[in-house]
Amino acid sequence: MERLDKFLANAKIGSRNEVKKLIKNGLIKVNGNIIKKVDFKVTKHDIVEFKDKKIEGHKLIYIIINKPVGYLSSTYDSKDKYVLQLIDHKYKDELSIAGRLDKDAHGLLFLTNDGELIHKIISPKKNIYKTYEVKVDGNITKEKIKKLEIGIQLKDFKTKPAIVEKVKGNIIVIKISEGKFHQIKRMMKAVNLEVIDLKRIAIGSLQLPDNLKEGEWIEIEKPNLFNNR
Ligand code: URA
Repeated sequence: MERLDKFLANAKIGSRNEVKKLIKNGLIKVNGNIIKKVDFKVTKHDIVEFKDKKIEGHKLIYIIINKPVGYLSSTYDSKDKYVLQLIDHKYKDELSIAGRLDKDAHGLLFLTNDGELIHKIISPKKNIYKTYEVKVDGNITKEKIKKLEIGIQLKDFKTKPAIVEKVKGNIIVIKISEGKFHQIKRMMKAVNLEVIDLKRIAIGSLQLPDNLKEGEWIEIEKPNLFNNR
């Protein structure tokens, strides 16, 4: 149950004051009846209309974007380009990013206004694997792959075991369950490989769709990321 003015404001019909005026002016109907009480209670089963158009209640939204190189994984920046500039959605101001990518990295970025899900994703207990396609400069040897898989002692922490899925030419497809700052670059550097290109292709079971071009975004159903690997 929600107050009518709050329902309308959450649905982005206007500010709390603006929607109160709409209600008092008799412009809002609930189940076909004009309602002039701002604290009238509505549930998700009620049909709320403004100018005879049904108002959808506030929704949790899930968005994926194929982040291009050169954009910050942030919702605002005063001087650099940032991914939210690429998204046009009425709830865009509410979005948080689950798992950032460096400015020079590209690929799958997941955004949502579902705080509970964000919290679960970033929880270290959940161990969601992120998959990266990494183009490197240097000699990829079996020993280096083994080291990456077992875990590497970096200056401040030891990486958890990783899964190296395949190597084709100078590209390594690797899954890591953590997301520390510059983690992939630092892991590669530790085995004498320089990252030339870094693309994230999956977060848990959520894959970057082949047909989603760089800079494009889509709204998706709530994903089950925890269906891992
Ligand atoms: N590891 C990195 O080094 N950079 C990213 O953007 C993601 C993982």
